[in-house]
Amino acid sequence: MFVCNNCGDTADELPEYTKDYGFGCICDTECYCGGNFVDAKQCEFCGKWIPQDNYSSVCDECLEENITLETAISVGGQNYEYVVINGYLASEFTAEEIETILRRELEEAEKLNKKLNYKKYCLEKKQDLANEIEKEL
Ligand SMILES: [Zn+2]
Ligand SMILES: [Zn+2]
Repeated sequence: MFVCNNCGDTADELPEYTKDYGFGCICDTECYCGGNFVDAKQCEFCGKWIPQDNYSSVCDECLEENITLETAISVGGQNYEYVVINGYLASEFTAEEIETILRRELEEAEKLNKKLNYKKYCLEKKQDLANEIEKEL
């Protein structure tokens, strides 16, 4: 199976279009949309065809659908950031304790339906998101 790397259109066999470039005709694997047909594999969740060399074995739609607060925390675990913090607070709590406290706050915020940006955060780190979702397979 082949899939267009731009529009996602599929083809059983490589369509061979003949194009006249003025110096003779060449055949290629171009899709009408301007993309190219490439070898395909199936998304491990929904079975949709995606390019063989896609960064994930799961399609973008399924990656997005499977984002939860827990996923975001796992993705964040692959992307530690340094912050400046009140020195006294830092002397009372270890980094692990601070993380536990912040997680508690976050879970409370979710229960109260406060707007959290975990989907957006995960979509900005697609390769890390894919790694986390693939662990669940
Ligand atoms: Zn296309
Ligand atoms: Zn899918």
